[in-house]
Parts: sequence; C-alpha cells; structure tokens
Amino acid sequence: MSEKGLIIVYYGNGKGKTTAALGVALRAIGYDHNVCMIQFIKGEWNYGELYSSNRLKPNFELIVTGKGFVGIIDDDHLIAEHIQSSKNALKIAREKIISNKYNTIILDEINYALKLDLITENEVISLLNSKPENLNIIMTGNHLSNKILDLADLVTEMKEVKHPFKKGVKAKKGIDF
Ligand code: ATP
Ligand code: MG
Repeated sequence: MSEKGLIIVYYGNGKGKTTAALGVALRAIGYDHNVCMIQFIKGEWNYGELYSSNRLKPNFELIVTGKGFVGIIDDDHLIAEHIQSSKNALKIAREKIISNKYNTIILDEINYALKLDLITENEVISLLNSKPENLNIIMTGNHLSNKILDLADLVTEMKEVKHPFKKGVKAKKGIDF
C-alpha cells in the first residue's frame, strides 16, 4: 500500500464509465484490495452490481445514496431531496476516504451530481484534497470541469460512436443494469 494513488476520471457521453470503474474494482479485488463504491445518483432501482457486491464481500463495499436520475419522467423527488442525498454521499465519501480502509474508492456519477449543481466544485476539490497519498479515487459521470481535469492523473473520455438506444433498443439486464 505504499505506491502513490491515482485520481482517475471516466467521463463523456458514451457508455462504459461505470462499467470501467467496476472493471478496475474486479481487477483490484483479485489482489485482495479493498474497494468501496459510492453511488451519487443511482438508487431506488435494481442493477447487477448491487448483487455482485454481496458476492465480493468483504473486499467490495457498495453504498447507494442516490434517489435515481434527476429530472426524468418518473423522478418524483424534489430537487431539495436530490441535493440532500448528494450532500450525504459527499459526507460518506469523506469518511471512507480518510478511513484508510480502502485501496480504491469509486465516486460513481459524482461528475453528474456536480453538473446538476447538487454539489459544488469546491466540495469535490476539498474531497480530493483529503485523499491519503496511496488511495486511488475513480470518478464517473458525463461532465468534467477544468479544475478537476487539472487534479486528475488519468482521464478517459467515453465517446459515443453507436448506442443501441438510438435504434430504440431498451436497457439490457447484465449489460446496462
Ligand atoms: P454504464 O453504467 O453502462 O457503464 P455509463 O456509466 O457510461 O454506463 P451513465 O451516464 O451512468 O453511463 O448512464 C447509465 C445508463 O445510461 C446505462 O444504462 C447506459 O447504458 C446508458 N447510456 C450510457 N451512455 C448512453 C448513450 N450514449 N446513449 C444511450 N444510453 C446511454
Ligand atoms: Mg454510470
């Protein structure tokens, strides 16, 4: 645990940001590393990693804090509730980051929470600055600010080339959720 940790960002409009982060988790757990994933936006519906996390215990911890996607048709939460749950996610993230119990912490959809103004850029930067030297942090979401780009060590843009949704194909179990 003595190597310098990285700040990794997967962003962009193409599919694969959360799955890339989960891929890193799978790889790390193979070496008995401890990974914690905190989901900022998702919540209140089912997806595969909720169940896989139980199978990968005790190395993988998944914390769902979100109230589902913001502003879509079946979103019946007030924006204040989304803000509250994002603030709660930040608080949990900070506790996990300073706990020294993990090799890698995934802040899933945090960039999206930032874009929607559910959290502020200063809050995210302060979170990143609280990172212990050897901890890896992975951030996902479709947005990237210049300041976070500066702080990051590894940034990959997922760019949509083709997505079956455009042909009317619905989200698929085991692929999309
Ligand atoms: P995934 O969780 O599949 O890796 P993601 O993290 O890159 O996707 P999100 O912005 O978190 O993407 O959106 C999650 C959902 O939206 C997934 O069901 C995903 O398939 C879908 N999605 C992602 N990119 C696109 C796209 N370009 N067009 C349509 N749907 C998309
Ligand atoms: Mg995602």
